[in-house]
Formats: sequence, C-alpha cells, structure tokens
Amino acid sequence: MQSSRVLDPIDLDRPIRSALPSLARGASALAKLGIATPRDALWYLPFRYDDFSDLRSLVELVPDEKQSARVMVQAVRVEPGFGRRPQRVIAQLSDASGSAEAIWFGRRYVERRLRQGDEIIVSGKVSQRGWRTQFTSPEFSPVGHESIHTARVVPVYHLAAGVTQKRLRELLARILEACLPAIEDPLTDAERGSFPDLADALRTAHFPEEAADVAEALDRLAFDELLALQLTLAQGRMARDQLTAPSIELDAPTIHEIVEALPFTLTGDQAAAVDAIITDLASERPMRRLLQGDVGSGKTAVAAVALAAAVRAGWQAVLMAPTEILARQHHGGLAPLLDRLGVRAEFLSGSLTPARKREIHEAIGGGLAEVVIGTHAVISEAVEFPRLGLAIVDEQHRFGVGQRAALQAKGSDREPHLLALTATPIPRTLALTVYGDLSIGTIRELPPGRQPIRTEIRDRRALPKIEAFLASEAAKGRQSFVVVPLVAESEALEAASAEAEVERLRAALPDLRIGLVHGQLRADERDATMTAFAAGEMDLLVATTVIEVGIDVPNASVILIEDAERFGLAQLHQLRGRVGRGTHRSFCILLSDATDELARERLAVVRDSQDGFHIAEQDLRLRGAGNLLGTRQSGLPPLRVASLFEPRHLKLAERARGMADELVGADPELASRPALARLQADFAPAEDEGDAA
Ligand code: ADP
Ligand code: MG
Repeated sequence: MQSSRVLDPIDLDRPIRSALPSLARGASALAKLGIATPRDALWYLPFRYDDFSDLRSLVELVPDEKQSARVMVQAVRVEPGFGRRPQRVIAQLSDASGSAEAIWFGRRYVERRLRQGDEIIVSGKVSQRGWRTQFTSPEFSPVGHESIHTARVVPVYHLAAGVTQKRLRELLARILEACLPAIEDPLTDAERGSFPDLADALRTAHFPEEAADVAEALDRLAFDELLALQLTLAQGRMARDQLTAPSIELDAPTIHEIVEALPFTLTGDQAAAVDAIITDLASERPMRRLLQGDVGSGKTAVAAVALAAAVRAGWQAVLMAPTEILARQHHGGLAPLLDRLGVRAEFLSGSLTPARKREIHEAIGGGLAEVVIGTHAVISEAVEFPRLGLAIVDEQHRFGVGQRAALQAKGSDREPHLLALTATPIPRTLALTVYGDLSIGTIRELPPGRQPIRTEIRDRRALPKIEAFLASEAAKGRQSFVVVPLVAESEALEAASAEAEVERLRAALPDLRIGLVHGQLRADERDATMTAFAAGEMDLLVATTVIEVGIDVPNASVILIEDAERFGLAQLHQLRGRVGRGTHRSFCILLSDATDELARERLAVVRDSQDGFHIAEQDLRLRGAGNLLGTRQSGLPPLRVASLFEPRHLKLAERARGMADELVGADPELASRPALARLQADFAPAEDEGDAA
C-alpha cells in the first residue's frame, strides 16, 4: 500500500509536513511534543510498555493492574454530564466466566463505536468498585481487527496537552512504516556485532512483538546514544590536551588565612576537598573537578576557599548557579566572607536593571569585579573577563553542556579551571565513563550538630492529621513544603494537580498563607514566590519538583511528599533536604497509598537512611533490570534511551568509549563517516539549555 512511498527516499530531517504530506494533519500534534521531523519521531521512544498481550477472562482480573480481556458488549448507556461533572459512558461487558463494566468520562465518541452484541478486546486499568469489576477509560478494538492499542505489548509515551496516547501511537506507527526503509545504519556490520540493525531496533522499541524483544532493541538504541556522547567526549579530550590554564599557586600562610576567615572549622572532608582543589589550581593543566556532597554537606564553603584563592593569586573567578534565588543566596552568604579577605564579589542576573547590568559588565571588564556570582547571565555575550582563572558551577546538572562550555570559554587566552558542584552522588565507574577525565571529590561527613530529619510513611487516610500537624507547625512560626505527585507524562497535568491541591489546602487550612510554584509558571514568578517563602511571608508552599534544587529556608520544618512512590529515591532524598537546614526539629512525610512490596521497600529505604550515597546504592539495587527507561537522571547528561543505572548499559558505555577513541583518533571530525557524524549531531547536548532558569 505504501510501495510508492518506499521508493521515494524520505528526507528524515525535513519538517514532517513536507517529508510526509499524508501526515500533515498530525504535524501540529507532534510539534507539541517537540517532534518536528520524522527522525525526531523515530527517536521519540515510549517511557514504558503495557503488556496487554495476555488475555484474561473476567473472573481472573485483579484490581489495580492493567489487563486485557475479550468480551461481549451487553449494553451501553450514556449518563449526561451536568455542572462540573463530565458525561459518562458505561458499558456492561461479559464473557463465559462473568461480567464487568467499562466506564469513560466525557469522551463522546465512545458510544458511537460500541454496540450491544459487539465482541471487543478491552485493555486498561482494572479496579474493584464494590462488587463490580470496572475498566476505567480502557482502550478497545473489535475482535479480529488488529489494533496497536489492545491485546499486545503497547507503548506508552510522554504526552502534552491536546495529544492523546492513542493519537500519538497511531501517528508514530504510520511514521515508522513510512520511514524505516529510509534508515541508514551508522554502524558497520563489524561494529554492530550481535546488535539488531537500527531499523529493527526502532521498530521493536516502539511496537514490540513480544515484551522479551524490547531489551535487545533498547540496548542497541542505548548504544547509539552512548556512542554519540562518547564521540563528543573523545573530541573534547583531544581538544583539551592543547589547552593551558593559569597556574594559581599560593603559599601556605595565604591558604591558612583564607580558611581561617570562614566562620567555622572545615570538616575533614571539606579540608580534603580544599587540598585537592589547591593542588589542581597550581597546575597549568586545566582543572576539571566535580565535588559531590549530600545536601547540606557544605560544598559552598569549599567553593568560597577556591574563589578567594584564585583572586589572591591575581585572577578573577565566577560562580554560576541555576536559579536567581540560589545565586542570590550564594552571593548573600559568600560576599561577606570574601569581603573579610578584601575580595569584592558582584552579583549578576538577568533581573537587574540595564544600568546596573552595564555597571557590573564594566567592573568585570575592567577587572574590578574579582568574583562574580550569578545566574546564567554570567555567560551572556556582554560579559568579558580579562583574566578569568576559575569557574564554578553549582548544581551542575541543571545546566546544559553548552552552558558549561560557554562559561569555560569566558577565559581570555587561558582556559579557566573548572569546579562543578553536585548533590547527586554518581557511582565512580559511571562518572569515569560518562565524564571522561573529570576528577571527583566527595564530602560524606555532614557539619557537626545536624539533627536527623524524622521521616514517616503515611497513607491518605492520615491526611486530616497531617494537615492539623502542618497547622500546628505554622502556629509555632515554622514553614512547610507540600510536594504534589509527579506526573511523568506531562508537566501541564502536574501543574494542574498542584493548582487543585492548593485549592484543597486553602479550603482545609483557611488560616494559613499558602503559595504555589510549578514548572508552568514563568521563572521570575517562581523565583518571586520562593523568595517570599524564604522570607517567611508564607506558611506553606505547594510545589512540584521545581523546589528540588538547593533552596535554603532554615525555618522550614516539614516536607510532605504526596504519592511518594512515584519519585526516584535520590529525588526523595533531595526533596527531604529542603528541611532540617536550621535548628528546628524537622519532619518528612512520605504520603503513599501504594501497596506493592517493591514500592513499600523503596520508601522504607528513604525512611531509614539519611545517607544520600546509601540511598543511591539501594535505589540502584531495587531498580534491578526491570526499569530500563529510567525517568530523568539528574546529575547526568540527559540521555533519552540509555540508563546509566543499568549495569548492562554501563558496559555498553565502556564499549562505546573504546570505539569512540578509535574513531576520533583516526578521523577527528568523522569526515569519512557521515552517518556517525549525523548520529553525534542528533544527540549533541549542545543546544540543550539545561533546566536552569
Ligand atoms: P550544600 O553542600 O548543600 O551546598 P551548604 O554549603 O549550603 O551545603 O552548607 C549548608 C550549611 O552548613 C550552611 O548553612 C553552612 O554555613 C553550614 N556549614 C558548612 N560547613 C560547615 C562546617 N564545617 N561547620 C559548620 N557549619 C557548616
Ligand atoms: Mg548548595
């Protein structure tokens, strides 16, 4: 049917409208997901699969699972909506074993496609309503009619508003059919080894015949992605070997003086981190160092010493943070410290007035500003450092590779030394593979006097009590965070649920001042709310995970995380780190109705440990091989397919690294391998803006 198409070569990199005119009507839906070209579509992979291939009889259905059944439609009735209640369509279903019902909300076309006496396959989530077994908004297809939505392994994709799973699946199926013949495999047969070829891997990754086929296909795609990353790293290593950094050498008394200026004594781990940095700075080889340390472990103090050291040696230094509020916090904390050492620290962000910005730009350009602390405004074109010796990136994973590179490029004739800070621990082997030649230091020891955060797991029945507790903390002058459920499928849905939760809480706790932040708000609105919260102008802040990163509100004593089982363990730990930063006794409540054992076990790990490294290891262990398509992995490059927590993929990364070194060694620009260069460009994180605002 598509034979004439197959003969025409399809340009995978042209807009869908022109590359595939028959799909022009789907182009705007795809655009909402960031899919502009057929190639984008091919690589828009499901984040999980529902296995509906196993048909059950109705008596076999178990609640809270997604299942399929072959049934007869006994009756269909439509209950009109009224007020805010949407229309409902209810179908009575039966098979030889028993009966069930299916319900759809507000989707008017369902009843037109269902007739009494139809034999259909229904696939969807099953729940028990009293004595009735009910499918909620299931997919269905007539028996004998092949469907990509039912009775098979069905892909589930991230969505955006206005695009349904079903529509997206249909569009992707058609694009695959049209485009797979045009796919060129970037690997030679010898390089590919036992992997499936690229077209097969893509087909299986979207529409597997069997669940068991998925792993091999994803491994192939993961390998391509890792190879693209390693090619870039190999080229970077090659280029960096040519660079020189300023040698920042200080005598022992000067270093002593700097450390003594801190308002506290460094912990052993902090002192060791300082030593390593001082040693690196003295070399002409540009430092590339990652300092990892749990939330609150005192990385900023280490950064302060490094900044002062660079300035004392006659160089400028810059610290870039991912948000305005973090940058302001750093400046607020560091400026007085540096001032005692006679070092002037300026603050720079996009929110300053144009006149103020110009002043700072001039101070930097004239060398008067010795330390600059700011947002990504510090890498804007107008900023020119005549003698940049050290660049520090806080919460480095929030920035894109391009932004980090732009910061390093701010040096004039010498490459600045680079120090990256992160609170997300990275397993050593992984860091070596992914970050290449980055040196890694770790702060494990927390500053003295920290109180552990009491962590409890509760279910929704406890909400009234929890709310009373939030109110009593507010009465004591403390503040709380409420983190709404993570919605992996869509940021818009997540924002909507945050708004609904604010309404609910405002009704339940009318005396509390309640604010809201989520990812759909503009960065400046978000920052304004967080600043107000930090200033104590609100009792309670309802938030999505946008609060994850380093905000420091010592007065916050409670964090309530809803549907906690949906979050990664490292993420829960990070979130928990938003409280317990002051002297008040602090609490973390993990709200979860999940009953499955794995979910309970994962939450118990966070409840029972305050050690981010231990939690990361346990997370890795509990993820096992099951979860191939991990959700966002903060602290790591934004990988689409590969999961660096997957031991198998780590091996792939090592293999990719070896292959990349060879390829780049032989042909640095990959001029003789256009398909590989294309692959590398496709996955290049260079355009990536990070999520820094
Ligand atoms: P993070 O590693 O999360 O960036 P910070 O640098 O913000 O941690 O430090 C957290 C808090 O601990 C800050 O209030 C800081 O002043 C304090 N702190 C850091 N180091 C020490 C230390 N050695 N002794 C006492 N307090 C410290
Ligand atoms: Mg910090």
